[in-house]
Amino acid sequence: RTVYVNGAYVPETEAKVSVFDRAFLFGDGIYEVASVLGGKLIDFPAHIARLHRSANELGMRIDVSDEEILAIHRELVSRNEVEEGVVYMQLTRGAVDRDFMFDTEKLKPTLVLFTQTRPLVDTAVARNGMKIVSIPDLRWGRCDIKTVQLLYPSLGKMEAKSRGADDAWMVRDGVVTEGTSNNAFIVTKTGAIVTRPLSNAILPGITRAALMSYSTASGTPVEEREFTIDEAREAAEAFITSASVFVGPVISIDGVELSGGKPGPVTLGLRKTYLEESLKRAI
Ligand code: PLP
Repeated sequence: RTVYVNGAYVPETEAKVSVFDRAFLFGDGIYEVASVLGGKLIDFPAHIARLHRSANELGMRIDVSDEEILAIHRELVSRNEVEEGVVYMQLTRGAVDRDFMFDTEKLKPTLVLFTQTRPLVDTAVARNGMKIVSIPDLRWGRCDIKTVQLLYPSLGKMEAKSRGADDAWMVRDGVVTEGTSNNAFIVTKTGAIVTRPLSNAILPGITRAALMSYSTASGTPVEEREFTIDEAREAAEAFITSASVFVGPVISIDGVELSGGKPGPVTLGLRKTYLEESLKRAI
């Protein structure tokens, strides 16, 4: 595989980043994951916009233009012949002798991109759905910034696996915040599609936003309100959204089956709509 590191395309075995990089020492980095379908990038402008937002919130510099970032994505997709998969992009504040304090102006940001080829559309999750367990949300107070501080979500997924599930939803004061790497939705027994509103407590998902705009356009707007884990367990259907899973059906929560233990019809309809609409806009 060819990867991109600070201006150069190199074989992955030769790619180097400093041990003093602040992302390595302090988790001082942000990232984006954009999916590739048919060799084209899905929801790309929104990913670039969120990268800028994350950088602004942390006072991090971006020295590369949006056009250049798009060109790098395309170059890697082409060199690695990615038909279906993802492009991972990470930007860090840069490398400097270890110190909690930093001078962003003096630091040269590190930009790394690589690709992963894997099926995204025809997957076991899409066919069979996923089992969810709930865990307390013990993350920091700025979950709206897409930082590489992913230890808690990583441990959460491991706990889910050890409990015989596929992923975890995080809960604060009884209310579902989001999945470890996705946004959480339920479909109520009256057919309403519900997701919690944006705040510092969750990542503003690109797939969440796209799905909401497609649902509004098709006449069934998503209701933005908080829902408890108890309400979720009693919902007709549940699903997650993320850039690499798109719309992922949830078939059980904490061992309680939803929609008869199969992906629900509303969820499958939304997945179809999302794929059709986002493919039309792929670049
Ligand atoms: N929430 C969290 C915590 C995430 O890590 C992610 C994606 O990685 C999402 C939500 C979904 O965001 P997106 O649809 O932009 O992939």
